[in-house]
Amino acid sequence: MNEYDSEVMAGLCEALGYFAAEKQEEANLILVNTCCVREKAENKVYGLLGRFRKLKQANPGLIIGVGGCMPQQKNLAREIKSRFPYVNFIFGPHTLFQLPQLIRRAYENKETIIAIQENPVEITEDKPVKRVHNVCAWTPITFGCNNFCTYCIVPYVRGRERSRQPEAILREIKQLVASGYKEITLLGQNVNSYGKDLPDKIDFAALLSRVCQIEELIRLRFLTSHPRDFHQRLIEEIARQPKVCEHIHLPVQAGNNKILKKMNRGYTREEYLALIKNLRQAIPQVAITTDLIVGFPGETNEDFLQTLDLVENVRFASAFTFVYSNRSGTPAAKMPDQVPAEIKKERIQTLIKIQNEITVAENQAEIGKTYQVLVEGRNEKNPSLLAGRTKTNKLVLFPARKDLTGELIQVKITATTLTHLAGVAQVTLV
Ligand code: SF4
Repeated sequence: MNEYDSEVMAGLCEALGYFAAEKQEEANLILVNTCCVREKAENKVYGLLGRFRKLKQANPGLIIGVGGCMPQQKNLAREIKSRFPYVNFIFGPHTLFQLPQLIRRAYENKETIIAIQENPVEITEDKPVKRVHNVCAWTPITFGCNNFCTYCIVPYVRGRERSRQPEAILREIKQLVASGYKEITLLGQNVNSYGKDLPDKIDFAALLSRVCQIEELIRLRFLTSHPRDFHQRLIEEIARQPKVCEHIHLPVQAGNNKILKKMNRGYTREEYLALIKNLRQAIPQVAITTDLIVGFPGETNEDFLQTLDLVENVRFASAFTFVYSNRSGTPAAKMPDQVPAEIKKERIQTLIKIQNEITVAENQAEIGKTYQVLVEGRNEKNPSLLAGRTKTNKLVLFPARKDLTGELIQVKITATTLTHLAGVAQVTLV
């Protein structure tokens, strides 16, 4: 979602006549799009803003703006203003569309402008978006979240869930595919609950069905799914639609029922495992990835072992693993029995080791198979290779002299690593 917001910021700036600078030192405008989901990301922002002091001294006309969900937290905008008075303006997710006015005002004001709004505004449609990629594009379908997982700051900074009208989503996707995009990813904090707030009765399964009817669309993905709202009807719809990619990102977060309850995740370990079974029965090729948190308050070693057991049981294709990060303002921040840092460190290392072994073994099992790969472009590290993804979202690298960006190529897998599959195209590529 943040990457998409950055594309919107770039689009709004481009509409004002700005274009990307090669280096920070050459820029007349620097925007920092922040994330407050984890403390580490926030500390990076402070470090970055500190380094901008020199840039501002060298170029007093430089405009610096700080946006995203970090300043949306209580008192954070004031803190940024007092620590970094050379920041020209501060805005949040609800004031993103004021960016052009804020840039104009920054040229006239010496003081830092704070443009933080408590409540979300109506969804703005038909905004300029400067897309980073030219084969795959994001399309948000919901903003905000109603789930209030006890560790998560998102509902407080991005507001309650708001769904876009289906017509607006379909119009945007039709425009994207008409301009050459091959793969669309529907975005939302919890895509499965799409439509609950709309007057017309439409749910996520019905939206998928309507998007798949767009003829020129080749592949459709979605992010992120919440296990609580993954109903049988949705599973059947995904299985029925050949354009929907066989990859589900399904954050489990923990494998222990006591911790899941304390996290307010709304499902048990048994329900999650039953959902995995249903998904694999209905979509045999499906690759399932997940998010995991270790060291949530009150997590004992036995609780953690249950998470490891679930990981070994499910055999995720890959996982984003996190050490619990205490976010001020969330219920978990005030929970007793916070886990000491050194125990969290030990647990995350154990978890990463086990998941990496599973990912390596799962990738090795792909050797000898042939997959349809949508080519996204040249590999940055080795431009003699093309890079693309399978429908299961695995990165595939293969040699080709011809630029086949945007094409679907059959690739036979010949070698694998932890991070990607390597292969050979099954046609002559000159
Ligand atoms: S579902 Fe939970 S973790 Fe995800 S954004 Fe909503 S509150 Fe945060």
